[in-house]
Amino acid sequence: MKVLCDHMLGSLATWLRILGVDTAYPSNTMSDDEILRCAKVEGRFILTRDKTLAVRAKKAAVPVMLISSSTLAAQLEQAVEALSLDAAGALTRCTVCNTPLVPVEAVEAQPHVPPKVFARQKQFWFCPSCKKYYWMGTHYEDMEKKIAALMKQKSGLS
Ligand SMILES: [Zn+2]
Repeated sequence: MKVLCDHMLGSLATWLRILGVDTAYPSNTMSDDEILRCAKVEGRFILTRDKTLAVRAKKAAVPVMLISSSTLAAQLEQAVEALSLDAAGALTRCTVCNTPLVPVEAVEAQPHVPPKVFARQKQFWFCPSCKKYYWMGTHYEDMEKKIAALMKQKSGLS
């Protein structure tokens, strides 16, 4: 599943990347024409808050979903439901730039990680694009809880 979030959906884009979805997030200088072309060329499902863009996407035969809510929780719920997402691919993608993360040896990560973190963690990942190291710290645990709660909520609804 590859998606493109319009520039009004930055938080949603980050969360979809957390869930492992290949998510493009074009800058707000990108025109609707460019967005439509990008989605078509890269085979991306457009998520948008913009009704005009949604209508144009339909006319151009680009799959599109109009996101109805302005709150992140409701947006994420709508996307998870419509795209049948689960947490299987969670935390495999850089939340900053969308690049798939690469597992790295602890010795390689050590110089880039605070000593306290290094003492507690065994596994590290690296984004080859923005050179950022990831580990399953408290941030990860918070996200994991949120994802689990969302999935539970979803299965409760269906
Ligand atoms: Zn990155």
